[in-house]
Amino acid sequence: MAFGQPRIEYKTNAQMRTMHEAGLVLSRALDAAVAAATPGTTTAQLDAVFAAVLDEAGAKSNFLGYHGFPATICTSVNEEVVHGIPGNRVLKDGDIISIDGGAILDGWHSDSARTVIVGTPDLEDVRLSEVTEEAMWRGIAALATGKFVGDIGCAVDDYVSSVQGKPLGILEDYVGHGIGSEMHMAPDVLNYRTSHRGPKIRPGLCLAIEPMLVRGSIETAVLDDDWTVVTTDGKRSCQWEHSVAVHEKGIWVLSAPDGGAERLAPLGVVPVPIP
Ligand code: MG
Ligand code: MG
Repeated sequence: MAFGQPRIEYKTNAQMRTMHEAGLVLSRALDAAVAAATPGTTTAQLDAVFAAVLDEAGAKSNFLGYHGFPATICTSVNEEVVHGIPGNRVLKDGDIISIDGGAILDGWHSDSARTVIVGTPDLEDVRLSEVTEEAMWRGIAALATGKFVGDIGCAVDDYVSSVQGKPLGILEDYVGHGIGSEMHMAPDVLNYRTSHRGPKIRPGLCLAIEPMLVRGSIETAVLDDDWTVVTTDGKRSCQWEHSVAVHEKGIWVLSAPDGGAERLAPLGVVPVPIP
């Protein structure tokens, strides 16, 4: 578009309920892929496990064929940040892997990612993953309590900056997004504080909130496969993501079986099922 931001798609409650169904299938598929992520497994095997759950539920993958992407999940290991392609890579003890996938039901999309540490964890990787996941929940809580989409990035940034110990970097090259009848839609959801407050939060808005944190520099590069994004300093990276709906009674995490209740409670937010 030449001027301003692309139009935001605001969903009806019925559409958001279908997105929730897609999110529940996705959650089960991620459960299966996470459980399979053990030393000696290939990333292609994780993809097969994930795809089987979608298949059985009658859901379609929104990753497979997306601008030619060849698999149903992204598997990003260690210094790989996002968009890693599943293949013959064998997971080793101590690897940290982000598994990012999505599902479509009746034309409505979901998108979610989790990070797993394979076998014996490095404590700094545990910290990286825990801080990234909590940053995601802080962002989700800000969607419930804030006024503008920019409040999400402020909440993520404030939390990550407040964590004691070695500083972690917040990636700026990749951000969250609107989601609905397509996987990637307006608006962008930044994971850092800027002077742009972004669009107003209102019912029907559905967002994929996905902070990506690194143990070193936030500079990234894309490998020759044209997909895999890596940190240029080789330091490890992490991603967590949920799709979340705003409706007239509150928010509901579409890709979490409990709507986010357990992790949002300590943050003072009670998610409400979509009416
Ligand atoms: Mg994703
Ligand atoms: Mg996403």
